[in-house]
Amino acid sequence: MQHTALTPALRDVYDRAVLRSPGELEFHQAMSEVLESIAPVVERHPEYLESGVVELLVEPERQIMFRVPWTDDSGNVHVSRGFRVQYNSALGPYKGGLRFHPSVNLSIIKFLGFEQVFKNALTGQGIGGAKGGADFDPHGRSDGEIMRFCQSFMTELYRHLGEHTDVPAGDIGVGAREIGFLFGQYRRLTNRHESGMFTGKGVLWGGAQVRTEATGYGAVFFMDEMLAMKGDRIEGKTALVSGSGNVAIYAIEKINQLGGRAITASDSSGYIVDEAGIDLDLLKQIKEVERARISAYAERRPGARYVERGRVWDVPAQLAFPSATQNELNVDDARTLIANGVLAVSEGANMPTTPDAVALLQEAGVLFAPGKAANAGGVATSALEMSQNAARQRWDFSTSEDRLRSIMGDVHRAAYEAAEHYGAPGNYVVGANASGFRRVADAMIAQGLI
Ligand code: NDP
Repeated sequence: MQHTALTPALRDVYDRAVLRSPGELEFHQAMSEVLESIAPVVERHPEYLESGVVELLVEPERQIMFRVPWTDDSGNVHVSRGFRVQYNSALGPYKGGLRFHPSVNLSIIKFLGFEQVFKNALTGQGIGGAKGGADFDPHGRSDGEIMRFCQSFMTELYRHLGEHTDVPAGDIGVGAREIGFLFGQYRRLTNRHESGMFTGKGVLWGGAQVRTEATGYGAVFFMDEMLAMKGDRIEGKTALVSGSGNVAIYAIEKINQLGGRAITASDSSGYIVDEAGIDLDLLKQIKEVERARISAYAERRPGARYVERGRVWDVPAQLAFPSATQNELNVDDARTLIANGVLAVSEGANMPTTPDAVALLQEAGVLFAPGKAANAGGVATSALEMSQNAARQRWDFSTSEDRLRSIMGDVHRAAYEAAEHYGAPGNYVVGANASGFRRVADAMIAQGLI
């Protein structure tokens, strides 16, 4: 990778981390982005480099890898690999989701955990950063197979978790069904109904209102805040959304509620375009109830079309919400978006935009919200779930949504002001990284660089 903006001292930190973690490309990419954008911070505050805190920050506190044996419905034994990277607990217990996807490996979990540290700091909610998961592919598996996998996964992981230690949540491939199975196994193994050890739980058994919607809603609130700084709003605008999972579905819902029109959704097989606006009930039926492919939407919705294996970014629209997975919006896609007059991009997913695409969008004057700020609503609402569990309280939907909206306003303000302060006005990447970094680094220094 090229690191034009890395100072020699930061480049040394980067090079040493790469030597310790060869081949972990996604992790290198995430680390490089953060180190580049904290350059103006360490220039003004050399004590961060002198103290060694940057060097400490890039190395996870703990990395756990384990075998997950499970049996399919025909009695065949399979082995998956499980991970939990407990990155940083200076600000609070480790917190971050679990991902079940065949692409999962240590590099991906480390990149996600690293990003999570800064995101969680930005929320101001007193939570550390972690990430975990397994290279298990849930697609096409029966409920029984999913249950047995989740139980086997938790049989190893439970000893590393706890409401004051490490609190997981969902991510790709881990939704309400999986969280139920995982929580149930933890309860059985520990003989504790410890609500605060998992977030994203069912509302019946300790979950918080709005947690399911929070990441998608939050990415849309962040977009609205960015546009408001330019005297504009989401209302009346067309929007591209990629993905059709938890984040994408609720981004579409909030875009439509705010008077915008979301016209696309996708999955790993292709995408759909519905110029009349996505019919959310139909999308939820196909994706949440039937767990079918996205092409089913176009088959049932007059006027919609399905494009196999295409790029959702080819469709002209004013706003874009990449909400599927990492590196799904590349420099060619950015060129297409710019040519089609896109105004702003808000990342619902983690690191969906490649670094050269981010640079191109920013150069072209497109407002760009990085995931660690724009999708922080999910983990922020998880922290609210933890508070409600600790206090044995339940907030209603509108109270929870108001809190989410206000937290997204705070996250936006922190990133916006830090960008101005460090001489990069309007650059939310610099703002989010600089602000998150200072909060974590200050806590680490205060606690004695351990
Ligand atoms: P889901 O599993 O609910 O949905 C993921 C969606 O992305 C699916 O439509 C899936 O399609 C698609 N997708 C996944 N991998 C690929 C791939 N390699 N290529 C193309 N499409 C792909 O996950 P979430 O909605 O929860 O997560 C989406 C993103 O948001 C991730 O980056 C996640 O880390 C991030 N995020 C999620 C949070 C949450 O609260 N859930 C919080 C913060 C960030 P298919 O079904 O075909 O695989």
